[in-house]
Amino acid sequence: DAFVVKVSRAKALNAFIVETPDHAIAAAKDADAARAAGETLKPLAGVPIGMKDLFATKGVQTTAASHILEGFKPVYESTVSQRLWDAGAGMLGKLNMDQFAMGSSNETSYFGNVISPWRRGGGDNAPLAPGGSSGGSSAAIAARVVPGATGTDTGGSIRQPAAFTGISGIKPTYGRCSRWGVVAFASSLDQAGPMARSVKDCAILLENMAGFDPKDSTSLELPVPKWEANLSGNLRGKKIGIPKEYRVDGMPAEIEALWQQGIDWLKDAGAEIVEVSLPHTKYALPAYYIIAPAEASSNLARYDGVRYGLRELAEGQNLQDMYAATRAAGFGDEVKRRILIGTYVLSAGFYDAYYTQAQKVRTLIARDFENAWTYCDLLLTPTAPSAAFALGDKSADPLAMYLNDVFTVPSSLAGLPAMSVPGGLDKGGLPLGLQIIGKPLDEQGVLDAGLAIE
Ligand code: GLN
Repeated sequence: DAFVVKVSRAKALNAFIVETPDHAIAAAKDADAARAAGETLKPLAGVPIGMKDLFATKGVQTTAASHILEGFKPVYESTVSQRLWDAGAGMLGKLNMDQFAMGSSNETSYFGNVISPWRRGGGDNAPLAPGGSSGGSSAAIAARVVPGATGTDTGGSIRQPAAFTGISGIKPTYGRCSRWGVVAFASSLDQAGPMARSVKDCAILLENMAGFDPKDSTSLELPVPKWEANLSGNLRGKKIGIPKEYRVDGMPAEIEALWQQGIDWLKDAGAEIVEVSLPHTKYALPAYYIIAPAEASSNLARYDGVRYGLRELAEGQNLQDMYAATRAAGFGDEVKRRILIGTYVLSAGFYDAYYTQAQKVRTLIARDFENAWTYCDLLLTPTAPSAAFALGDKSADPLAMYLNDVFTVPSSLAGLPAMSVPGGLDKGGLPLGLQIIGKPLDEQGVLDAGLAIE
């Protein structure tokens, strides 16, 4: 019954695309039986979580919030979700998101936008974006429907929605979580990670999501550390870098104040603060918005009306007509925009000017970080340049939407672990997030700094 109440609360926010309370109930019953038999409980025994609709779930519709995958029921389970079920968790439903994880507000979903459970104070009742692309995950957690959920992050899709809704979320080092069974957006950037109410819950979930998987060629062949057991908010001996290039023109005073507050908290926890420089930061966003669409245009070529979901076919049409009609009807505007940009930057004559150039910039950005690690152990920045914006505010202006990712994309391009934790409220009472970026494989350092801020 509790699950039914929770699911109806989530309905008002449009957080789920499909509800699967039976899956969660079965996990709860397994946990009860294990408890009654005096067995040691699994780490997530009976915990009901939400699964972003980007993860393939066996027999349960998986759409990436698109029309083209409507009705697609995978015959296999993603590695990450399988690990969570093996750890005893159950699934309350498939969470809404931006279509194919492209967006920062959850407004590109074919199934309608998610509404944040937050409202700005002072009589302003405009419904707010929950962030994106993992907006169903952030809204469901912030509304206390689920204690945790999966997200994926290609350029900020775990961190920015976490920041907008006052929760925590970590994108681990590229390769920590298997991409097998995760609908591909930009394969060299996509990473799964947990979102939850606390840093500790993120650590527990991540331990049960990460790990080597021979089915993903970019999966890291490393043991999963005991992040939760080793959590410590004591940062004595740690150097925290403050990248000066993140102090962008026109940064709102309250974001500046949030950043300063974060610096003070980390100092209180024993850390030393140093200013560092990441000189190529301003090229990260343009490079990301070339590389991500380029990879997306290739990954999305597989949706042809033959293999999955939707097929648009009229009498007398040939195969080409069927492809065109299916893709025209099946993809939303933002997805089509990315495919157009991606195929353009990869086309003969433009490849070197755009794609090759963006790849060079990506290397420079990775080197900026490598250089910074000679001066510090972790970096602290704001997660996003603003608090949650109203639904509809940026949906007609793709560039304004893309600019919201300015602080999250550089660490994605470099494959680094990065986390958003709640840092305070803006003057309208809306949550703001602080971002901690770590060295490759230093999720522990990131989580520890997160704990010190939390
Ligand atoms: N907002 C970014 C984009 O639209 C990031 C999305 C993501 O991380 N999946 O590409």
